[in-house]
Amino acid sequence: MSRRVEAQWCPSCFERIDMTPQIVTLRDLVTHEAKARPGDYTVCIKCAALLRFGRKMLLKIIDASEVEDKATRAKLLTVSRTIKELRKENPINVWKN
Ligand SMILES: [Zn+2]
Repeated sequence: MSRRVEAQWCPSCFERIDMTPQIVTLRDLVTHEAKARPGDYTVCIKCAALLRFGRKMLLKIIDASEVEDKATRAKLLTVSRTIKELRKENPINVWKN
């Protein structure tokens, strides 16, 4: 599952981002919200940087220690690790349709 977001550039690697891996939060479970919102976390699908949507939905690089919720932090780190492993196995952009 992924979410469509306003196109912008990863602040870490400058890859264009218009889809983000879905990070399920408690709010998603409650509202089935499919759209990213300010304060949501995501991971760059190219460089695996941990990112957070700021006000006006601009992405900012964050450190895992900034993620207060343990379950969310674990999920972000798992997604990030998976992306890094996939990139190692297949350096060609596997995410492009
Ligand atoms: Zn990136």
